[in-house]
Amino acid sequence: MHIETKCIHSGGGTDTITKGLNTPIFPSSAHEYLDAEDVAYPRYFNTINQKVIVQKICELEDAEDGIIFSSGMAAISTVLLSFLKTGDHVILQDEIYGGSHAFVEMFFERFGISYSFVATSAESIESAVKPETRIIYIETPTNPLLSIVDIQEVAEIAKRNNCITVIDNTFATPIIQNPIKLGIDIVIHSGTKYLGGHSDLSCGAAVTTSNLACKIRKTAANFGGNLNALSCYILERSLKTLSVRVRQQIDNAFQIAQFLDNHSIFKKVYYPGLRTHPGHSIACDQMNGFGAMLSFELNDSNLSADGFMKKLTLIKPAVSLGGIETTICDPVRTSHAKISAETRARQGITDSLLRLSVGIENVEDLIKDIEQALEI
Ligand code: PLP
Repeated sequence: MHIETKCIHSGGGTDTITKGLNTPIFPSSAHEYLDAEDVAYPRYFNTINQKVIVQKICELEDAEDGIIFSSGMAAISTVLLSFLKTGDHVILQDEIYGGSHAFVEMFFERFGISYSFVATSAESIESAVKPETRIIYIETPTNPLLSIVDIQEVAEIAKRNNCITVIDNTFATPIIQNPIKLGIDIVIHSGTKYLGGHSDLSCGAAVTTSNLACKIRKTAANFGGNLNALSCYILERSLKTLSVRVRQQIDNAFQIAQFLDNHSIFKKVYYPGLRTHPGHSIACDQMNGFGAMLSFELNDSNLSADGFMKKLTLIKPAVSLGGIETTICDPVRTSHAKISAETRARQGITDSLLRLSVGIENVEDLIKDIEQALEI
């Protein structure tokens, strides 16, 4: 089945009462247990609405099983702590979502887990491997500089060294990148972004093999972070339009990236679809589209990044990304505010960097908005 069809038809729950086409919302948190082998309870991640949504995401990502969480960070923290113990070592790209970076820096030392933040390349990852390395954690394209790492190469390094690979696939979505097919063990999403897609939902997902999912579910049952039935339903509804939304967002992003790249007022444009992007050829090999996120810096002493953002009328400054509306943010004050200025400088996240999450509006209106904001 093609992915567009899977978005609509995979994992649907049946409505035996009214024969409606949608999964009913089952809100109960208490279920009778006599004669039942597997009693449903939301924090055991086994209610019908949770199972239906997991099945759909698994089919989109080519995974066997998974867990649906109440946020992306619940997924990330639970997955990492499901497999790590004192004495273990983890390799992560330096360029990952600021919240994931902050989580590692804040908690791992306390639990005696060592870590190496490395540059976004398979070579840097390989040279950081130690006998005690347990997990290799990557993100591609990265937030906010859209750097690309070769997924298959990382998966091979991990297999050679007996490590578990985890990828945050939020920026790409399963529509354009399927890391499990490239050898990755665990795929994580902040479903708050593209999977939800309408800026009205907080959720996260981790999908993998049945064996690893079982271990993650056991940790998750202790940590909590489960998603309620109504949110599962909203997510299921959103996923039905994932492919059309994401495809339109990518078309728009491509045109905006080209517009920015051809305009002298923009100093740097980070978008993997541009031939000049250092990760372009790897992106061509492992992605089926270049995504709808891009970043840029302004090159004009009369117009600050903040001044430019304030002059936009259609495009709103907003935290988060992946919704159907185009939004803009400055990572230094938002997604990457919690990490140190030194780390940001090392990564190339400057005060003048702006990150655009492109929506599904008519692209001409978006470009007009950018043009009018440039008039000084
Ligand atoms: N991963 C990426 C790439 C993100 O951008 C974010 C949030 O911005 C997260 C994970 C965390 O997701 P959530 O905010 O749903 O916890």
